[in-house]
Amino acid sequence: MSIHSPPFSRRTPCFLFFIFLVFNVGAGRDGGSIVQIKIPGKSLRFANSSAFKIALFADLHFGENAWTDWGPLQDINSQAVMSTVLDREKPDFVIYLGDVITANNIPIQNASQYWDQAIAPTRERGIPWASVFGNHDDMPFVWPSEWFSGEGIPEIRCSPSNATLTYESTCYFKGTTRKELLEKEMQNDLSVTLEGPSFLWPGVSNYVLQISSSKDEEEPIAYLYFLDSGGGSYPEVISAAQSRWFQQESERLNPDGRVPEIIFWHIPSTAFKSVSPWFGIHKPCVGSINKEKVAPQEAEWGMMDVLTARKSAKAVFVGHNHGLDWCCPYKSLWLCFARHTGYGGYGNWARGARILELREDPFSLKSWIRMEDGAVHSRVTLAP
Ligand SMILES: [Zn+2]
Repeated sequence: MSIHSPPFSRRTPCFLFFIFLVFNVGAGRDGGSIVQIKIPGKSLRFANSSAFKIALFADLHFGENAWTDWGPLQDINSQAVMSTVLDREKPDFVIYLGDVITANNIPIQNASQYWDQAIAPTRERGIPWASVFGNHDDMPFVWPSEWFSGEGIPEIRCSPSNATLTYESTCYFKGTTRKELLEKEMQNDLSVTLEGPSFLWPGVSNYVLQISSSKDEEEPIAYLYFLDSGGGSYPEVISAAQSRWFQQESERLNPDGRVPEIIFWHIPSTAFKSVSPWFGIHKPCVGSINKEKVAPQEAEWGMMDVLTARKSAKAVFVGHNHGLDWCCPYKSLWLCFARHTGYGGYGNWARGARILELREDPFSLKSWIRMEDGAVHSRVTLAP
């Protein structure tokens, strides 16, 4: 895909995408009937029989220490990481894997301004993307206590886009809700992010996208599932209701399990802890940094049982731990960390992005990590 390809909506049909919007109609207490609505012009599809490539941008943490000079500088550095990865890999699709912003550091009415900066490198290159929420995206502002001693409260740039407005009118400290962030992102033609069924609230980013065959736009080659693993405004969990939703959706869309399923959420489940290498990284795990303990969700409410019961579920990709980038097998699937992409967030490990490469006939899923300096490492085959 050319980095100067025309806007998404004006592409030739072979690049067009079809999103399968999972939409709840007349939902009863059990979730009700679920119908599938196709939105023409928005579906992921192999352009030809070659690879379909996805870049994962994890933990960008835009807006960190927004009131300082070095905070905005970090965001510029994060944009440079993404630009390097996009220009080297030329992916067909980008996934923002949560903690796009550090909302607890953003004293501003609408944190979408920082979200916009994070998606800019992808949008400018005409590449479609989707996102899931992390634990920092909708946090309320946390006042640094040191501001109340000695030096006092620094000058806060409450409105980067309109510096003439007063603090009173532009400085809000409640955080921007998941729903507000999502609605703003979905105004972009290139965003294929969807809002999940309302019965999964307060989880918001729960949806499925289909990648279709180059030969037949109706034929699914893979399903991409996105789940909201919580944090910020509610506990860090994937709920039992989300597990049931995944089970119902996967059985409905893919009853014979013929189509591979790839799953994305932000906070690792406790299963990641159980496969984590003790020291270094050794086979069958593949990766380059194992510098901290897995920080898992608060509880496990059945999602991993549902996944491991499906042979078609191939891999789960998470962010959250900035010092981990390994993939390890767990029962019938792979559990993989992305690579910390942003200069925001804790840790100074070199930045990069995990890349996924899908092939359609026969199906395969491979992955590697592309670093900011251009280096490539940690190649692994996740599904032949
Ligand atoms: Zn993070």
